Amino acid sequence: MRLFVIFCLAAVLSACTTSPVINVTATGNNAISGKSYKSVVADKSWIHGSPDCDLNPDPVIDRWQYDDRSFILRQNKCLTAEAPFIYVLTGTRKILVLDTGDLNDLPGFSLYQEIRNLVSEKQLAGKEILVIHSHGHRDHTRGDSYFAGQPGVTVIAPSELALAALPGAGNWPETNREIDLGNRRITLIATPGHQEQAITLYDHANQWLLTGDTLYPGYIYIKDWKAYKTSITRLADFASRHKVTAVLGSHIEMTTIPGQHYPIGTNYQPNEAQLDLSVDNLQALNTELKRHDKPVSLIFADFIIVPMGALQKQVSNLGKWLLP
Ligand SMILES: [Zn+2]
Ligand SMILES: [Zn+2]
Repeated sequence: MRLFVIFCLAAVLSACTTSPVINVTATGNNAISGKSYKSVVADKSWIHGSPDCDLNPDPVIDRWQYDDRSFILRQNKCLTAEAPFIYVLTGTRKILVLDTGDLNDLPGFSLYQEIRNLVSEKQLAGKEILVIHSHGHRDHTRGDSYFAGQPGVTVIAPSELALAALPGAGNWPETNREIDLGNRRITLIATPGHQEQAITLYDHANQWLLTGDTLYPGYIYIKDWKAYKTSITRLADFASRHKVTAVLGSHIEMTTIPGQHYPIGTNYQPNEAQLDLSVDNLQALNTELKRHDKPVSLIFADFIIVPMGALQKQVSNLGKWLLP
């Protein structure tokens, strides 16, 4: 039933995009290729579903370790077509979990337990697990239930109020917030546009910009065009003042062919694009967005920007109530 509703919504969303389409890759401007920079996760081949999911041999969750303090997880595309990524960053006092994914009712599986198994006992000892969300869409929050009531866990809701209450001077969302994990600083930047509560995290240790669904190699719906433009300028300004080694989002939906994405809702993505984008991608997006006061679809080599129409926004708002 849930899948049926999702696919109906996806069909409505796809059919109702009426904004002009600009193929940025064809203009010769800003056609940044994914191959023009060094990926931090290039050697990793993620689990990416199967043509027949009944025969899928993959685990519920794929794990990748960057170093002994940084982990990236991806959920099985046969169990959720969204196959979202989850980031786990450890400090000396806290372990940050960015997003809880799209699964919450698999027998024998617990994301909380997965993360405990992932991080060594030594790293876990006495530390708080801090769960935060890139935004409030269900494919990033559904796994919160695994953390509810667990000892030593704090879950920050993806709400304006909860984010504004975090430490930091000045008004949210204009001014960033800081989280200290213990010898590891994380900056939170408000980046509404894809969704009202969208944020981006900057990990000062790895110099990663964790952009959620604000920027990733895929088909990115924009709910509020003006807010999105402001957010991308905010990120571009931040990136010009801080070294960024990778722009890491929450999904892969692009193929390795420039400007080409997989069908929405597919459970199988052979030869998919790499996970990380670069600062060049971000700056190119910012430059292009400045040319467009009105919403337009923008096809870049490594991602696609798609403004929602009025009906799509209504469906998006309804989805908050309809989907479990
Ligand atoms: Zn989203
Ligand atoms: Zn998402």
